[in-house]
Amino acid sequence: MPKRHGGASVDLQLQPLSSLPGVGPRVAEKLAARGLTTLQDLWLQLPRQYEDRTSLTPIRALQPGVAAQFEGRVEAVERGFRYRPVLRVAIGDDSRSTLVLRFFHFRAAQVAQFRVGARVRCYGTPKPGQLGLEIVHPSYRVLDDEDAAALGDRLDPVYPAVEGIGPVSLRRLIGLALDRLPDEDALELLPAELRQRLSLPSLREALLTVHRPPQDADVAALIAGVHPAQRRLALEELLAHHLSLRRQRIAQQAHRAPALKGLALAERLRKALPFALTGAQKRVFDEIRADLAKPSPMLRLVQGDVGSGKTVVAAMAAMIAVHAGKQAALMAPTELLAEQHLNNLRAWLEPLGVRVAWLAGKVTGKARASVLQDVASGQAQVVVGTHALMQEGVAFRDLALAIVDEQHRFGVHQRLALRDKGAGGAVGADAIVPHQLVMTATPIPRTLAMAAYADLDVSAIDELPPGRTPVQTVALSDERRPDLVQRIRNACAEGRQAYWVCTLIDDSDEVEAQAAQSTFEDLSRQLAPLRVGLVHGRMKAKDKQATMRAFKDGELDLLVATTVIEVGVDVPNASLMIIENAERLGLAQLHQLRGRVGRGQAASSCVLLYRPPLSTLARQRLETMRQTHDGFVIAEKDLELRGPGELLGTRQTGLAGFRVADLVRDADLLPQVQALGERLLAQAPDTAQRIVARWVGGAARYASA
Ligand code: ADP
Ligand code: MG
Repeated sequence: MPKRHGGASVDLQLQPLSSLPGVGPRVAEKLAARGLTTLQDLWLQLPRQYEDRTSLTPIRALQPGVAAQFEGRVEAVERGFRYRPVLRVAIGDDSRSTLVLRFFHFRAAQVAQFRVGARVRCYGTPKPGQLGLEIVHPSYRVLDDEDAAALGDRLDPVYPAVEGIGPVSLRRLIGLALDRLPDEDALELLPAELRQRLSLPSLREALLTVHRPPQDADVAALIAGVHPAQRRLALEELLAHHLSLRRQRIAQQAHRAPALKGLALAERLRKALPFALTGAQKRVFDEIRADLAKPSPMLRLVQGDVGSGKTVVAAMAAMIAVHAGKQAALMAPTELLAEQHLNNLRAWLEPLGVRVAWLAGKVTGKARASVLQDVASGQAQVVVGTHALMQEGVAFRDLALAIVDEQHRFGVHQRLALRDKGAGGAVGADAIVPHQLVMTATPIPRTLAMAAYADLDVSAIDELPPGRTPVQTVALSDERRPDLVQRIRNACAEGRQAYWVCTLIDDSDEVEAQAAQSTFEDLSRQLAPLRVGLVHGRMKAKDKQATMRAFKDGELDLLVATTVIEVGVDVPNASLMIIENAERLGLAQLHQLRGRVGRGQAASSCVLLYRPPLSTLARQRLETMRQTHDGFVIAEKDLELRGPGELLGTRQTGLAGFRVADLVRDADLLPQVQALGERLLAQAPDTAQRIVARWVGGAARYASA
């Protein structure tokens, strides 16, 4: 494929993927479902991580937690059953060590492959098992005896999965797209002067490096995500997001919104509450009230630590909309959380004569039709739900306030989709749009907030309701586990409830669910006759809800759970939280989990169980948890502790959706991003537009937002 130059390359970048050999309508459709429609989209489909298959590690030298490739012969095969079928294959090599491969789902043909003596090459991350190291669902290949089976000569990129397209095909397609990468000048959008100053490679070079790491590449840097090629891409990606947020903000401010001024209903709610608002709640409500009174749309983020009482502030804001004869919507990221909001709002609002409707994925058929009708007629004054609120077919009569809880779980686009419900579709420049209120319990340091929320005004509820005693936090080694059973008994004897959180963050949902299942069984036995419940991510939503509700209603004493309980769950009577493998969680997540207790009057405690030996970093994290309860302090500490290479944390930054950038790891790029962003918007709006389109997509949408 010849390279193209100049103007032609713009077209090339936008060339549809159907121009690649092997991409028929079916494949194209699957790619499109992932937002991949042009060559450029595939260039920017960046590896999530790398696998190093360039060498073989003797089994004896394998380390827990460190991914590696190794080879050996099948020594024994065992098919068993523990809650579900399991296949275990022992592999040994010349280093005379053995490792166990464990499979939970497998086909008969797979079992047959593992003859004793067969040669197997595997890649995976070992962890301590019952009989030494084991790997759950490794990638593996059974080799012929004669098979020389060459080793890879460079790092293998691992791409985010695309449903319906296998990893090998996906890699091939990305390779084909890369073969058509235009030359440097045609591709580059960043000013040369900036790249030089920061010693960053061109976009072309950066893309080729991350997709096809050269043999002499700095492997450790690539794996840690700090290679100059990755930094270069991160800079451009952060810039694209920043630009899109800024432009959106500018466009938003051009819209009109209903000026909502009547406070009588909000006042009635406040007076009916069983508690007085904190000073911080009052202040933030005042900020919201002032925004709502203006004829331009509010765009406000409320940051408030877990338990700071954001919901009631949101409810009061909703009352301003309802008083004006309009509607308010509250959207939460999980059904559990949405349902909790529903219960709170019903308890608070129905006595005031306000009608609250419920719309979630599981509301179907006639019930759904009837809710939709109430929403469309305005009969439903406040509508609570999940993503289902944004679906097609949901039309409001007059939505004036859109509230999004735990915003870090949603993207900007989803927020806009809810906003658009106010205008009955995508909105033109002079449209009337709803006010937007966004709430988050994941405080992030100021610099990061500026980048992540460049389109929002920020309020902070930086005070907890009175009477909460800080959660007593201790870190205990695993060996003390048996003592905890007594501790749970004591708490429950006082009529309190407890959580036991099982985490295995390296593994799949499935393995985590299994661990929770067996912990549940053990604890049920040891704690009898206490009532123990279980929730995990692989249960049906209905069963999860039922168990959560039983716990909330005091019908269960102990809840064994995976991190599905992380966000927002409110059971004030729970006073003891035990977190297993706490050393493997990031600070923000630990803080969120701990926030589930200490919500009532009783003194609460949190036990962080860890498996020794602790790394320095893990020790510091646990220490921070013992010392402070302030989410903002914890966020700063998190940023400080998490240097480059600390990969565990990437899941918890919460600011999901980046392909390569990591707001914590790449925080030092943010000042550049901001300065450059303002300059481009002022001097080169076309370039700004192209950067946004390239990374964020939906360019047309932003143009009209
Ligand atoms: P979060 O900010 O984490 O979403 P919630 O809104 O769920 O917190 O509030 C946590 C708990 O505190 C709820 O039970 C709520 O009713 C209660 N609460 C809220 N504000 C106050 C207050 N000012 N005084 C006492 N309790 C409050
Ligand atoms: Mg909340």
